Amino acid sequence: MTFNDFHFEQELAEGLSSMNFDKPTPIQEKAIPVILNNRDIIACAQTGTGKTAAYLLPIINKLCKTHSEFINTLIIAPTRELAIQIDEALQGFAYFAPVSSIAIYGGNDGFSFEQEKKALTQGANIIIATPGRLISHLNMGYVRMEKLQHLVLDEADRMLDMGFSQDINKIISYVPKLRQTLLFAATMPPKIRELAKRILTHPDQINIALSKPADGVVQGAYVVYDTQKNELLKSLLKGKTLSSVIIFSSTKENVKRLEKELLKLQFNIAAIHSDLEQDRRNEVLLDFKNRKLQTIVATDVLSRGIDIDGIGLVINYDVPGDAEDYIHRVGRTARAESTGVALTFINLADQRKFKRIEDLIGSEIKKLPLPEELGVGPEYNPEKNQHNPPIRNFRNKNRGRRK
Ligand code: AMP
Repeated sequence: MTFNDFHFEQELAEGLSSMNFDKPTPIQEKAIPVILNNRDIIACAQTGTGKTAAYLLPIINKLCKTHSEFINTLIIAPTRELAIQIDEALQGFAYFAPVSSIAIYGGNDGFSFEQEKKALTQGANIIIATPGRLISHLNMGYVRMEKLQHLVLDEADRMLDMGFSQDINKIISYVPKLRQTLLFAATMPPKIRELAKRILTHPDQINIALSKPADGVVQGAYVVYDTQKNELLKSLLKGKTLSSVIIFSSTKENVKRLEKELLKLQFNIAAIHSDLEQDRRNEVLLDFKNRKLQTIVATDVLSRGIDIDGIGLVINYDVPGDAEDYIHRVGRTARAESTGVALTFINLADQRKFKRIEDLIGSEIKKLPLPEELGVGPEYNPEKNQHNPPIRNFRNKNRGRRK
């Protein structure tokens, strides 16, 4: 099958070929005809499957035919990064098409708010928004969505996890009842099914679950004490010509601390976390994409939905909270059939969590020997309920080292 089989309008077909898209991915094959047919969809698909194009292309195609001057489509996404990324993809596909769009996300200055307001009142065709920011505009009373035809919830499971449930309900109260709704989620917990029941009408269900990291990812893990993590990280980064690297940690505090420590050691590194100004976040991402910056240390803000090519190494400084997050983090590398390495640091308390991840992906991840100078790490014994040594020891040890 090729994209020609969808008989897209000329303007869209040109956009697609200029982006070198010729063969649809499985989710695109399944979803595009259904969406062109005006039916609702609930799709279980993760980032990397091509889900963004799966919903953007049929919507753009319909807009090519109707030339709307109103808000026609609302796409809601959990994070600013994802909203920007969707807008960028849209601008590529719709380069030759009569479609206007704007990404609306929080954390900017008054000037951006005014620009967003202008786009919203003048009827940009496609609005891509994070929930909170959109609600700020909705509350001002000038957003008119009576002519809206498509509502897309991207990474809906993530939005519910982030506590956006009320916001989503509020947004839905502003859009027409008669509309096409497309719901995308990486996982299908009961709360997603419940949401789907409320907001979708006789949806087609599409399942492209990706419960394993891509084949190109070489995975390994180090079983360590917390006190060994920093030295291990340095030894992995030091003196090697690595392609782009992402270091993930679950907490902002760790991310900030690691950035500081690695900068002191002259690593070409920057951090991304939710305390950072949006402009700075964009700047860091751009430098990273352009290879000016070799390494990013990030919270899970970056683990989903972000599409950057050529990441050679992902380091999980800690084991992520749930197994799906592990797959998302590891999925940052080896994209589009390239290869990559994903290494995870497992401390005593994380051993059980890591075992759950191994169970989910259905294989045991190789435990690698620590570099000799780090000494011996703990045993991997996930059946035993183990705790980390009191944090006091860790701090004391670090303090001693700095003197
Ligand atoms: P997504 O899952 O929407 O984040 O897409 C993942 C990546 O795959 C993005 O870089 C897309 O540009 C790319 N992509 C999606 N669909 C196709 C396709 N049919 N052909 C080539 N690349 C694609």
